Amino acid sequence: PAHLRTEDTIAAIATPPGPGAIGVIKISGPEAEGILRRVFRPARPREHFESHRLYYGHIVDPESGEPVDEVLVALMRAPRSYTREDVLEIYAHSGYRVLTRILELVLRAGARPAEPGEFTRRAFLNGRLDLAQAEAVEEIIHARSDQALRLALRHLSGGLSERIQALRDRILDLLAVTEVAVDFPEEDVEILSPEEMRRRLSEEVLPEIRRLLASAEEGRVFREGIAVVLAGRPNVGKSSLLNALLREERAIVTPVPGTTRDVIEETAQIAGLPVRLIDTAGLREAADEVESIGVRKAREKLAAADVVVFLVDGSQSPTEEDQRLYEEVRSRPHVVAVNKIDIAPAENLSLWRRQFHQTPVFISAKEGRGLEELSRRIFEVAVGHGPAEPPEIAPNLRQKAALERAKKALERALRLLDQPAPLPELLAVELREALSALSEITGEVTTEDLLDRIFSSFCIGK
Ligand code: GDP
Ligand code: ZN
Repeated sequence: PAHLRTEDTIAAIATPPGPGAIGVIKISGPEAEGILRRVFRPARPREHFESHRLYYGHIVDPESGEPVDEVLVALMRAPRSYTREDVLEIYAHSGYRVLTRILELVLRAGARPAEPGEFTRRAFLNGRLDLAQAEAVEEIIHARSDQALRLALRHLSGGLSERIQALRDRILDLLAVTEVAVDFPEEDVEILSPEEMRRRLSEEVLPEIRRLLASAEEGRVFREGIAVVLAGRPNVGKSSLLNALLREERAIVTPVPGTTRDVIEETAQIAGLPVRLIDTAGLREAADEVESIGVRKAREKLAAADVVVFLVDGSQSPTEEDQRLYEEVRSRPHVVAVNKIDIAPAENLSLWRRQFHQTPVFISAKEGRGLEELSRRIFEVAVGHGPAEPPEIAPNLRQKAALERAKKALERALRLLDQPAPLPELLAVELREALSALSEITGEVTTEDLLDRIFSSFCIGK
C-alpha cells in the first residue's frame, strides 16, 4: 500500500494482549524523539536523552497533565536500532487499558499505527536484514519446539543467505563469460568452454541447490512437526498416555496437580520435535450409526498420522480385538507400546513381547515409566533414517519454490550445453532466470506484492 512509507513514524503495542508483568510500546521513525519529549516526564528534568539508556518517569497526557503510567523508556538512535531508524520503547505496566491509553497518546503526538510486520519490513528496507532473515524473525516467534527455534535462529544469523549468496556468485561468473560471448561473437573469445561450463553447473551449482532442497524437506519435520495418533482398544490407556506425555513436557511450566482433562488433540514436544498428539477413541467395529461415524473419523486420523502409537494393555493377555486393530495399523509407520507394566504379570509381558513384528516399548502411563524410550522410538520412526538433528538450515516453502525455479532454469541450461554449438544468448536467459529466482530468496529482487504477502502474516508490533 502507498501509505507504507518510511518517512513517517509508526507505533504499536509489541507485547501480546492480556495482563502481564510489563507491556512494551514500540515506536519507530523520525518523530520518535519528539514523541518521547511530548508524552514522557522523566523523574529528574533533563534536556538530553542518551541513546540506549533507560530512563525512569511517567507517561503524562500532554493536554491534561494527568499521569497515565509509571514507566521506563529507552531511545535507540538510528542507525543502531532494529529498524535502523530512531526507535523508542516504552516499558509500561501491562494491561489492555494502560497500553491502549499510552498508544493513543503516542498516536496523537505524531505516530500512526504500524501494519503487521512493519518494523521488520523497515529493517529489511533499510538493509539491516535480508528477506530470508526477516522471515526468520517470524519463524522464531512461532517456533513450536526447541529444534525449530534453533533452526530459526540460524536462519536469522544469515546461514541461508550466505549459501544463496555463494550460489549467486558462481552463477554470476558463468553469466559474465556468457555475456562476453554474446557481445563479441566474432572475436572467438572462448574464456570458458561449454564443457567447463557444463562441469561447473552440474558439479558445483546444481548439487548445492539439490542439497538445499533436501534440507527443506528434512527441516519441514522439525519446523512444522508431526502428527502422532494414539490407537488401541478402549481402556488400554490412550487418554492416560496422552496426558502423561503432556505432563512430562509441561511439568516445569504449569504444575496443575490432578488435572486429567479429556483431551482429544494436544500439542506437545517429543525429543525436540513439535508433535500433535491425537487420541482415537472408538476405533472398533461399531454396531450403531453414531459409533460408526466415530470409526470412520478414527480411520481418517490414522491415515493422516506420521506415526501411530499402537497401545495394548499389558495387564491382560492379547485379545482378538487387539489383533484386528493391529492389522489396521501395521501398514503405517508405527510404534507398539505395552502399557500398565506397573500391574502386569511377568508372563504377560513375555507373551506381548512376541506378539508383533517389532519389539514393543514397555511403559506405564500411570507412573510415567518408559516414556523416554517411547519418545525416542516415535522420533526414530518420524524422522526415518534421516538426521537426528535438524539440518543446519532449512528453506521454507517460499524459498523452496524459488530454489525449484532456479534448478529448472539451470537444468535447461545444461540441456543447451549438450547441443553442438550452444547459443550464448539462450544460455544467458536461463542463467539470468536462475539468478533472479535466487535473488527472491534474500530479497535483492522484490516486489511490493511479495513484501505485502510476507509481512502481512507477521504480528503487529513485529
Ligand atoms: P483409553 O480408553 O484407552 O483412553 O484408556 P484410559 O486412559 O481412559 O485408561 C483406562 C483405565 O486404565 C483407567 O482407569 C486408567 O487409570 C488405567 N490406566 C491407564 N494407564 C495405566 C497404567 O499405566 N497403569 C495402570 N495401573 N492403570 C492404567
Ligand atoms: Zn480415552
